[in-house]
Amino acid sequence: MEIIKAENLTFEYIRRDEEGNVEGITTAVDNVSLDVKKGQFVAILGANGSGKSTFAKHINAILYPTEGTLYVDGNDTKDDDKLWTIRETAGMVFQNPDNQIIGQVVEEDVGFGPENMGVPTEEIWDRVKESLKAVGMYEHRKESPNHLSGGQKQRVSIAGVLAMHPKCIVLDEPTAMLDPVGRKEVIRAIRALNDVEKITVILITHYMEEIVHADKVFVMSKGKVEMEGSPREILSQVDKLKELRLDVPEVTMCAYKLRKAGLPIKEGVLTIDELKDELLRLKSIKKGEV
Ligand code: ADP
Ligand code: MG
Repeated sequence: MEIIKAENLTFEYIRRDEEGNVEGITTAVDNVSLDVKKGQFVAILGANGSGKSTFAKHINAILYPTEGTLYVDGNDTKDDDKLWTIRETAGMVFQNPDNQIIGQVVEEDVGFGPENMGVPTEEIWDRVKESLKAVGMYEHRKESPNHLSGGQKQRVSIAGVLAMHPKCIVLDEPTAMLDPVGRKEVIRAIRALNDVEKITVILITHYMEEIVHADKVFVMSKGKVEMEGSPREILSQVDKLKELRLDVPEVTMCAYKLRKAGLPIKEGVLTIDELKDELLRLKSIKKGEV
């Protein structure tokens, strides 16, 4: 069962001059059709300007298709009556946590979403507690968000969305402004949402390492879906990824170069452990030959 379904989705930004005459058109999303199934962890990868954010904004009905249709849990986003249902179904997390946190205290901030939805007070506190626990921030509940690290702030933003009980969370480059430690914390929290809470996750990123745990990856370029497949299928196509201006993870690149140099290493190595196993395998083959 699909929770997100895009059918021939096209979106054009139209630039106009002061008199309202059209000056130019940018086709930011170009005839995209894709499905995300309930419970999936999907990654959308693409260089800057490839249309990822424009696509994401359709899922939350911030933008509407110029052509084609987007369904969120069976509801057409163009249907005005369904706007709040759609926004409650699909929560959004953006790049900059500072723009998303408004509360003076962590637990207050996380409670704003459910409060605005009219959730009864006792239930709000249960939701705040469970959401902060899910992202590993419960012990910071009484602190001021100002004193938190970037990774911690971003996890508070995620908890704020989680407290609204969405079926699906769309994260638009949530780690782009974080240091490596913060990035790891946030990715770990996102994986737990999917594994433990069974929430559908759509993670938009241009960091290739972050797609490794996804069930399915879509790679966008110039508004189109250029590649789709499992992380391994995607990461084994190093030449194509370089052509799309994406940085291949170091381990995958290293394995790729060794393969090119003639070592029979398998394609699409994703982790350092896999590379180690491949090298040990080769070593034992070599020993056997002697
Ligand atoms: P990404 O998130 O992959 O970096 P975007 O969806 O932000 O890509 O942008 C896709 C294309 O649309 C780019 O060419 C970008 O310049 C253009 N674009 C994005 N936002 C606007 C806007 N508000 N007005 C006009 N053009 C835009
Ligand atoms: Mg973007």
